[in-house]
Amino acid sequence: MKIFRDPQQIQSELIALKKQGQRIGLIPTMGNLHKGHISLFKIARKQCDVLVGSIFVNPMQFGANEDLNQYPRTLNDDIKKLESINVDYLFTPTNEIIYPIGTVTNTSVEVNRLTKRLCGESRPEHFRGVATVVNILFNILRPDLVVFGKKDYQQYLILSAMVKDLFLPIEIIAGEIIREDNGLAMSSRNKFLSEEQKDKASNLRQVILNCAQQIKSGDRDYLKIKQQAIDNLKKFEFKVDYFEICSQHSLEDADQSDSDILIASAAWMGQPRLLDNLELTIE
Ligand code: AMP
Repeated sequence: MKIFRDPQQIQSELIALKKQGQRIGLIPTMGNLHKGHISLFKIARKQCDVLVGSIFVNPMQFGANEDLNQYPRTLNDDIKKLESINVDYLFTPTNEIIYPIGTVTNTSVEVNRLTKRLCGESRPEHFRGVATVVNILFNILRPDLVVFGKKDYQQYLILSAMVKDLFLPIEIIAGEIIREDNGLAMSSRNKFLSEEQKDKASNLRQVILNCAQQIKSGDRDYLKIKQQAIDNLKKFEFKVDYFEICSQHSLEDADQSDSDILIASAAWMGQPRLLDNLELTIE
């Protein structure tokens, strides 16, 4: 695997490969790679000729009181994992490379509407940081194909909208959520959970599944179902950020006419804020 910090160097190699007709696949990550990330590389591998990963803990997407400094950084282990699955290129820029004039003064990319819901309510600046850095990575690496994980379903939807709205010539694919044996969605932040908290955290998945079951059995009182879910999460000692039953497309609250439903939640278990969701199609 070739590893680059310098954007010009990796860009000129990738552009040369594109000119030869090679299809470039990119997986953007913040590192501390686990099986969830690896699954995305495997999806891309099947559909591209040159497989590129990026590792960059993006300061612009962290709020002032969030966990930027604690975010796990394990570059050497990550490199071993990527080499073991034959990734061709890794881009690991520094903050100064990506934001030479700082995160506050640089140009930013704002996706409207979708960014205001769910995680956007408690993290109002977050998706501006995500959309901006992903655009920068796209412009440096010029991928033909990018795979995002559905663990961050809203992020996937927002970045798909950005690609469409800005006419970027990139195909976006979504990878399914990869989970621990107990159902907990894999996340770099799970390492901040004790064994006991990990057990309790698996209830986030369970509460979402119960909610889906209620809807499947014909209950359409979404406000009531949502409130019951929040009460249940609290019983399992979650601090709930949100639990929503919404449209898979607009992320607005689902109503009786919506058939493509997304059940999505964010909740703290101790220090880490955990995300999970489920897509549900009803008659
Ligand atoms: P991150 O390193 O957390 O920024 O994530 C990089 C990419 O991996 C994003 O597209 C995430 O949605 C995806 N990802 C993270 N965890 C999982 C998981 N458990 N299953 C599938 N994709 C994931």
